[in-house]
Amino acid sequence: MSGTNQYTMQDPTDQYKQPDINKDQTQPEPGLDAKLEPHADHGEQSYKGLGRLKGRKALITGGDSGIGHAVALAFAREGADVALTYLPEEEVDAQKVVAEVEAVGQKALAVAGDITSEGFCHDLVDEVVDAFGSIDILVNNAGKQVYVENLEDLTSDQFQRTFATNVFAMFWITKAAVPHMRPGASIINTTSIQSYQPSPGLLDYASTKGAITSFTKSLAKMVAGKGIRVNAVAPGPIWTPLQPSHGQPPEKLEKFGESTPLGRAGQPAEVAPAYVFLASQESSYITAEVIGVTGGQHTP
Ligand code: NAD
Ligand code: MG
Repeated sequence: MSGTNQYTMQDPTDQYKQPDINKDQTQPEPGLDAKLEPHADHGEQSYKGLGRLKGRKALITGGDSGIGHAVALAFAREGADVALTYLPEEEVDAQKVVAEVEAVGQKALAVAGDITSEGFCHDLVDEVVDAFGSIDILVNNAGKQVYVENLEDLTSDQFQRTFATNVFAMFWITKAAVPHMRPGASIINTTSIQSYQPSPGLLDYASTKGAITSFTKSLAKMVAGKGIRVNAVAPGPIWTPLQPSHGQPPEKLEKFGESTPLGRAGQPAEVAPAYVFLASQESSYITAEVIGVTGGQHTP
């Protein structure tokens, strides 16, 4: 894995090697970065900030691991204070990200809780506003993905929980946050290639990602007049703890990402720059859009 060199011109097919994935590794939901084998790259050694988010206050759900971890680190190195949410069992991952944010002199606020509770979502926004004074960047990133092969095995409970985590929480947190946003603020949702090319074993998950894509475009038009932009990032196969914690069956885990045109899984460090761009004023004329980070699987 390159890991240290994100800026020099190089061949993207081997900028990172396909991770050597033991297909039998499994973690209970939610998985931990700390237990992921091999470890993912969040830009720890490579991400260089240029002050593109200087003075901004960001809230990132699921900022403890995977894509959210890489985004938190990049935002902090670009000069933003970062609040992140995580589940109580992810304390070890959350504290690592807090340390990385504080290491560059930015404020970090880690809030543990379950975003499937509407009350928690409201309290979360209040806590961030109390600590930071505003929310300038909201990244709805927390997500639930549990692979179920057959329709008869997909329970109502799972279907509802996946929607509560991926869609309802996004609505609750966004609705609570918008009154605290000033013109120039940016909302970035995390959709997926699954919004466009849904896999059969991800019926509930893919459906939520379709909803997130539509929510993003509708909301963008709704709040454009307030000077708030709303966009989404659609990752393809990215090596994160979501995948070995029942996100994929073992036989798919082994070859995770290999069928993309670039021939490998992506790393969280390769996704974070899309969030930075959408959060920054560089994307001032971009709203209601989706940026794909898919290794070539592409959005329509
Ligand atoms: P991840 O497991 O590192 O992050 C997901 C986070 O969601 C967890 O850290 C957890 O804190 C949070 N979460 C889950 N359920 C929660 C709940 N009930 N309450 C509070 N927090 C909860 O995995 P990731 O792959 O970085 O996922 C981040 C986002 O990226 C998700 O929305 C996922 O759907 C999306 N995504 C991932 C991939 C991929 O290949 N990894 C591809 C496309 C989209
Ligand atoms: Mg996590």
